[in-house]
Amino acid sequence: MSAIDGLPPLRDVIRTHGLSALKSLGQNFLLDLNLTSRVARTAGALEDMTVFEVGPGPGGLTRALLALGAKRVVAVERDNRCIAALGEVAAHYPGRLEIIEGDALATDFAPLAAGGRACIVANLPYNIGTPLLVGWLSAEPWPPFYESLTLMFQREVAERIVAQPGTDHYGRLAVLTGWRAQARIAFDVAPSAFVPPPKVTSSVVHIVPRPAPLPCDRRALERVTEAAFGQRRKMLRQSLKSLGVDALALLEAAGIEPTERAEQVPVEGFVALANAFLAQRSAAGKGQSVSPASS
Ligand code: SAM
Repeated sequence: MSAIDGLPPLRDVIRTHGLSALKSLGQNFLLDLNLTSRVARTAGALEDMTVFEVGPGPGGLTRALLALGAKRVVAVERDNRCIAALGEVAAHYPGRLEIIEGDALATDFAPLAAGGRACIVANLPYNIGTPLLVGWLSAEPWPPFYESLTLMFQREVAERIVAQPGTDHYGRLAVLTGWRAQARIAFDVAPSAFVPPPKVTSSVVHIVPRPAPLPCDRRALERVTEAAFGQRRKMLRQSLKSLGVDALALLEAAGIEPTERAEQVPVEGFVALANAFLAQRSAAGKGQSVSPASS
């Protein structure tokens, strides 16, 4: 029996339900409920919240969220072997845990929040962590349906999310994140905390959406950051040529030196470039819409 909820220890759950970890599903389970409680606490007060969880697996983080008082947890799990184990957690917390068997990448959480307060908390499968984050940061309308994201990533990905200009990790992900949100690394988690242990250290990242980011078209921002960081060692007067517009005029309109490199430009600079890009396109009769950047 575990101290936080009286349910069986996670090792027993894994044994009883035959949940040997699958690499193909990015399964690295957290079995220490003190640690999963620490992740859950990072999200803040949960009493009024619908908490969306991606990949509950055997339920270690799910149980912490419920024990800490989450009003409702909606958990999306792709591995149907986990569903029966999660059913036992649902029975222990009547009416508070909804389990969706499916692919989180294809799940739209916004309507499930039904206009109430919501947040997302997850120990993400490492192979789909970045696309999930980009999807949540690309939510329309903004501010989004969630109040915060509390997510476990590989440390290297966490560093790319919170990176500041002038550092090696600064790139498209940091610009998108910094434009729409404030992000920080809450704490690191050693490989030995997981079963099986991954090769690298992980980090919990806490992300809070900005209520009013600088006005900017998201797809235009994606296009300019794709061009700029696609050739990050080159000067912007060169790398921005791939946008098919007058790169020097764009840089002048944005107030950025043509000799700067992408990694020196702060988020506000990229917003100015995206707005100048849209203005140039509409002056050239190409309209206000921009097709999405490739990822
Ligand atoms: N939350 C559990 C924990 O902390 O111990 C498990 C975390 S494990 C890193 C990732 C979980 O995501 C696994 O349970 C895996 O089956 C699930 N998963 C992988 N791909 C998924 C997807 N596309 N949609 C939903 N769940 C997925």
